[in-house]
Amino acid sequence: MRVRVWCENGECGGSAWLTLERVQSPCPRCGVALAIQPTAEARERNTIDLCQHCAGPNLYTEVHFPQSLGCLTIGLSAVLAILFARATYGLSFLAIMIADLVLYRVLPRRIVCYKCVAYHLDALPHPKIREHNLLISGKYADRKDVGGPAGHPEDRSGSGHSPPNGKSA
Ligand SMILES: [Zn+2]
Ligand SMILES: [Zn+2]
Repeated sequence: MRVRVWCENGECGGSAWLTLERVQSPCPRCGVALAIQPTAEARERNTIDLCQHCAGPNLYTEVHFPQSLGCLTIGLSAVLAILFARATYGLSFLAIMIADLVLYRVLPRRIVCYKCVAYHLDALPHPKIREHNLLISGKYADRKDVGGPAGHPEDRSGSGHSPPNGKSA
């Protein structure tokens, strides 16, 4: 398993790849120590249900593919599809969808931490870990507690607070 840990020293933005054998390394930009604490599950079964960097319990899985490259591919193929739409009767759109589906299946997947965005590669999938969920990532979008369903899942009833000594009839 490889883990990419991001430096949290101000706006540094550096990162380092760590492994179960090499659990610590200085940030290549600012020199701050970056580290992981591999869990027993990671060592024994090569899977995780906790972030190996910050121990956060909320993880998601996604295709390991540089986002900028993904956007470029989609943009480029859309342009090509439009250019050749007349010749192919729009079949190129179908081809792109199929290519996308195939890529999605073939490309390696990574497990990402909602909180610190550490990437975990070459780990076996864990039944607890699902695709990215906006509600959960919203919870970590800001350090301030913004409330709402993401911040307070137990407060869904919505229509005001019932007084602690409220009568029921
Ligand atoms: Zn750094
Ligand atoms: Zn984390």
